[in-house]
Order: sequence, then structure tokens, then C-alpha cells
Amino acid sequence: MKPALRRGWRDLNTVQFGMSPAHALTLGPVDTATGSFLDLLNGTRGLDLLGEEARRMGLPDGHVDALVRRLARAGLLDDARGGGPAADALRARSEVMDRLRPDLASLSLTTSEPGEAIGRVAARRSLRVLVRGAGRVGAMVASLLSAAGVGEVDVRDVGRVQPWDVAPGGLPPEAVGDRRDEAARRAARRCAPDRPPRRGPRSPRGQDSAGHSLVIVAPRDDVAVHAPSFAAAESLIASGTPHLYAGVVEATGVVGPFVLPGETACAGCLEEGRTDRDPAWPRLVAQWRSGTGRTHEVRPCDLTLATTVAGLAAAHALAFLDGRIPSTAGARWEVSLPGLSWHSRPVWAHPACGCGAADKGEGEHPSEDAVSHETMAEQRPSRKSRRKAGTQRPAGTRRAHV
Ligand SMILES: [Zn+2]
Repeated sequence: MKPALRRGWRDLNTVQFGMSPAHALTLGPVDTATGSFLDLLNGTRGLDLLGEEARRMGLPDGHVDALVRRLARAGLLDDARGGGPAADALRARSEVMDRLRPDLASLSLTTSEPGEAIGRVAARRSLRVLVRGAGRVGAMVASLLSAAGVGEVDVRDVGRVQPWDVAPGGLPPEAVGDRRDEAARRAARRCAPDRPPRRGPRSPRGQDSAGHSLVIVAPRDDVAVHAPSFAAAESLIASGTPHLYAGVVEATGVVGPFVLPGETACAGCLEEGRTDRDPAWPRLVAQWRSGTGRTHEVRPCDLTLATTVAGLAAAHALAFLDGRIPSTAGARWEVSLPGLSWHSRPVWAHPACGCGAADKGEGEHPSEDAVSHETMAEQRPSRKSRRKAGTQRPAGTRRAHV
């Protein structure tokens, strides 16, 4: 049984696995003997031994197999030896495992197949991610991904670390004066639970997007955060590299859109949509951009807001790297000080954008009905995941609304 789910009896014959509504399930009816038998499913016994114990407890033949099948279908079982060769290699490194144990337990809640969670954690090691921008947000995202087990986290930026770039979890105070990109790479490496995998001949440094599973675009320049340019992402669109925007503009934190090139809305779609809604948008952006670089003032970037944005961006990045489409696909999540309530704004694929996402799929064209867009954008991903979860749940197990 997945130890991450706390167990409790709702009544004499119904067990609840998990506490929080997002992942809790109930199982019933379960008789008392079967209930006691559940305690034995802790990964220390194989099926043969479990069969013997069941006979000793007076449970009928075949009961164990049926129960195990039922629990597996409900996504409640893990496999202490599953996950494939990469997972075996990870298990053998106990100091690395100990670092990642809470993350692994968390993944066990969002995966259904036995052994799937450790398989995904192990797979992170072979991934390459590039972070563009090593300010407060970018450096922290790089460190978070590295700490979560992503094998290769590269960082691109220019210039040298300034005192105001320093942030807990990002660039350390002793890096002030060092090259930004090198300092951020070093900081990320220091957070890694394991030594970096050996760089193969096919992963040369220097090519911007080649071979990266994901690129995080986290500019220090707040105009680039607020109005990301299609031109800056063209190479990512052309190479089909998934990318995610994140940053702080004034007192607002932004995460998204997550872009699957040619499939979900990109920076160009965002720009076209804004121009449709506000004819003054291009004029404003041109003025903001022309001011960039000329001003030497330090731009606003609240430390806690930057940390919040980095955390959410890294979480969306990991969701994708672990095989899901994050809810920032087709949306931007925004949070502003001092209220700090997150909300998502839909970003629709635009037919005038060269990325081609508007030609794909249903309902992606922008319309006047912003309210229904908002609702749809919020429901789209969750509806999909609910449906998926529903198919994995057999009769007898129910989502717990508690
Ligand atoms: Zn586009």
C-alpha cells in the first residue's frame, strides 16, 4: 500500500485512504479480517508470503489476489521493486534516495501504476532543461529543478551577479561579481541530490535549445516578462521545444503560458490576442521596450513574490517533465501583491500567429466571450485529469469529499 496515504476507518467496513480531497479514496465494504490484512501490505512481503498469512488469518483462497487487483486498479498499490532499471539504480544509491524521499512519496499520490512514481523520479536524471535568465526567479527555478533530480540544468544569461540578484535558494551572496550564468549553474549543481550524469557527445553546451526537454524563460527584464516577444521564442518554436514563461513584473508574479509549439498558444498568440483587445498595446510595448537597457535603475522584484513564482514555475515544469500537461498550457497564472490571490488568464492560440497552434484542435480560436473562456480554461485541464482518474477507479472505491 502507498504509505503516503494515511488510512482511517470511516465506519465498521469502509476504509479511507488519504486525507486531502484531491487524492483521498474510500474502499468498501471491507471486512475486519481484510482490514487487518491491509496492514501486511507494506512492501516487506511478496505475494506468496501474503497468501500464507491470509490462510493463517482465515481469509478464503483467491481473496488476496482479488484484493491486490482491486487495490492496484484503484491506484493504491506501489511496487517496492518496480520502475525499471533506472529505478533500480536509484534505489541502490540510498543517500540520493533519502534526499528525494518526500518527492517520491508525493509522486506516488499522482501516479497510479505500481512502481510508476520511482520510475518517473529516476527518469528526471536523464533530462536536460535550460533556464534562460539568472535573476532571482531564474536562478531559483534552476536550483529547484536540480534539487528535484533533473539531471542537467543549464542556465543562460549575461553580465555579472549584482547584490540585488541574491536570494535564498537562488544566487548566494558570495557569487556577487561572478558571471551570472556560471554562478547560477554552480548554485543549481550544489542543490542536486546526485552527481550530474556524464555529458554525452550529443549534448554540447552552446546550442540554445537543441536537445532540451524544456526551456524556462525567466527574464530579469520586466518588459520581457510582461510582453514576451515572439522573436525571442522563434528558435524554440522552430525546434519544437516546449517552453514555460515565468517572472515578476512590477508587483505581479506571472507563470505561463506553457507552450507546446504548434499545439498551445505561444508568446506570439498572446501578443496578437492583446492587440485584438487593446489597439494601443503595440504602441505601449514599443515604448516600454525602447526604455529597456537605457535605464539603470533596479526594477521591482519582491523577494517572496520571486520565490513564489519560481516555486510554481518549477512545479509546472516538473509536472510536464513527469509526463503531464500543466494547467499553464493555454493560460497565464498571475498573482499580485499585496492581495496574493492567484488567478489564471486564458491565452488563446491566434490564427495570425506563425506558430500554427490555432490550426490545431477545437475551440482554440479567440472569441468575444471572455467569461466562458475563463471558465473553460480553468476547467479544461482538471476535467481531463478527472476523467483520466475516473477510468482508473473500479467500483467499490470512491473519491472522498472530506
Ligand atoms: Zn503562437
